[in-house]
Amino acid sequence: MKEETRSRPTVTISRRGADRVRAGHPWVYRSDVVAATNVYPGALVNVREAKGAKGGATTAGAGRHGQHSILGSAFYSTASEIAVRMVSPKAVEDLDQLVRERIRAAAAYRERFVRDTNAYRVVFSEGDFLPGLIVDRYNDILSFQVLTQAMDDPGVREVFLSELRDRLNPVAIVERVDPRVRRLEQLPEKESHLTWERTAGRIKGAVAGPDSTANDRSSAAKIVTEFQMNGVCFLLDALGGQKTGAFLDQRENYQAAAEYARGEALDVFCYQGGFALHLAGRCEKVTGVDSSRPALEMAERNAGLNGREIDWIEANAFDLLRDYVAAGREYDTVVVDPPAFAKSRSHLGPALGAYKELNLRALKMLRAEGLLVTCSCSYHVGRTDFLEVLLAAAQDSHRILRILDNRGQAKDHPTQLGIPETAYLKCVIAVVS
Ligand code: SAH
Repeated sequence: MKEETRSRPTVTISRRGADRVRAGHPWVYRSDVVAATNVYPGALVNVREAKGAKGGATTAGAGRHGQHSILGSAFYSTASEIAVRMVSPKAVEDLDQLVRERIRAAAAYRERFVRDTNAYRVVFSEGDFLPGLIVDRYNDILSFQVLTQAMDDPGVREVFLSELRDRLNPVAIVERVDPRVRRLEQLPEKESHLTWERTAGRIKGAVAGPDSTANDRSSAAKIVTEFQMNGVCFLLDALGGQKTGAFLDQRENYQAAAEYARGEALDVFCYQGGFALHLAGRCEKVTGVDSSRPALEMAERNAGLNGREIDWIEANAFDLLRDYVAAGREYDTVVVDPPAFAKSRSHLGPALGAYKELNLRALKMLRAEGLLVTCSCSYHVGRTDFLEVLLAAAQDSHRILRILDNRGQAKDHPTQLGIPETAYLKCVIAVVS
């Protein structure tokens, strides 16, 4: 062990925390941190189990300071309730090399498993052993988001940005900022901005502070590209829109929905037209509904790009569906893909109520043997919860659902067995009798 590794900040955790780590989950909550020595925001730390935490354990695994041998290396946060995110079961000696290797491995995973698109998630945080980092590729633009103190460290940023650039050869890299996440991690505020562009040839945002965004924003306003998935084209405004620009996690679900869709279709919560554009190739008539005018404007441009005619309606989906049901409107295909209603466990009750209401209305509008495509992207709403809600809606509307496909997120958002939080998207496709 190198001296540097030995003198590294150390976090000692309870037996409960250690058992969780041994079971394969990388998170240790602050309540399981027994001691933290020499730590600072975003530190790479050695993680040990508290001495004597294990009933009757011998000192066989004890290190020279009388502690048990280390459980591995982790990123530390001084702010989050998730104090520790494991990155390796070993003492990491060279973090730069580890980050480079993991970026390369993540890119190789996509080369192996992702098809029919030039837009996909390149790095999915814990799902790719890089906790706190999200990277999406849209054709020649990369869009990333950091979620933790460790990933915002200037040295770490420099390493992953240069590896992404060398590996994927983008023309530009933008950073998408979620202000809520930065506040929770006590990171300095900043806005989404252009971090690097090929012509400039340097990484502007590697040492990003709150003041580094002003100039970047003006040049960043022009960051646009076109990308395609399943043969459908989309425009990207890299610094506008939601998420990192599109809902890539639905890519395979768009394809599956299109395969079975027919007749008159309604895409509720359509955003920039992900489902609607895919359905337009199969259905006689497609209508998309969303409350966001900018999203619908982009949806209309996407329709033009693909030579499709789709009706877009700007409305509150809850109100519109109530009115449509009252007016006796009918459809052959209905897609329901609302935003995450349960951002935390405490919202679970109201969220389930909202999912039930929407699906009940969708079911009331479906013609016999119609197709329901219904989604939930709230992690806190489990798959079983979601199916129960659908059953309750089916019972209330006297309909019967036969499940064609019980789907999750696309393969570029890897679900790691042992980390339930990496599986969040549900997409149920059902025939409604
Ligand atoms: N189906 C889309 C993603 C939907 S994201 C796709 O595949 O790309 C959720 C969308 O719901 C957002 O576009 C948001 O603007 C919209 N939204 C949120 N609340 C709404 C409401 N009450 N009525 C209608 N749309 C709403």
